[in-house]
Amino acid sequence: MAILPIVKYPDDILKQQASSVKRITKDIFNLVDDMAETMYEAQGVGLAAPQIGRSLRLIVLDPTGKEAKQLITLVNPQITFGEGEIEDEEGCLSLPGVICKVKRFAKIRIKGIDPIKGKEVEIEAEDFLARIFQHEIDHLNGKLIWDRLGMLKREFYKH
Ligand code: ZN
Repeated sequence: MAILPIVKYPDDILKQQASSVKRITKDIFNLVDDMAETMYEAQGVGLAAPQIGRSLRLIVLDPTGKEAKQLITLVNPQITFGEGEIEDEEGCLSLPGVICKVKRFAKIRIKGIDPIKGKEVEIEAEDFLARIFQHEIDHLNGKLIWDRLGMLKREFYKH
């Protein structure tokens, strides 16, 4: 396991559409381990592969932020259902010091491959956990929190 450097804005990889993971190889397992360790070390609650410089559809998250308490790892995650709307403050490990109020679905359903179980899983999430999933999946689509704001607010944060 290793702690990896976290990519910060304005690195181009954060704006790219990440590629699907075709096969769960040893490299993917190692990457998941390193990403989890990096996330806990940074005291984050989620991390997407582009944030450590790999443009792959792979996320780790833990709403407790405490080492391996409630670690979730998903490969090729996809939101299949969303309802309700909640606006709340969000930060991002790739945007140090930036906090934005972002609107998200209150409740979602996500499917993806759990590499530990080696099979497809479907997860229902609400509130904070749903927010983390949506934030991390945004990273796979090249979106940062301020891309969810109106243009004026976005310019304000970028300067
Ligand atoms: Zn982020």
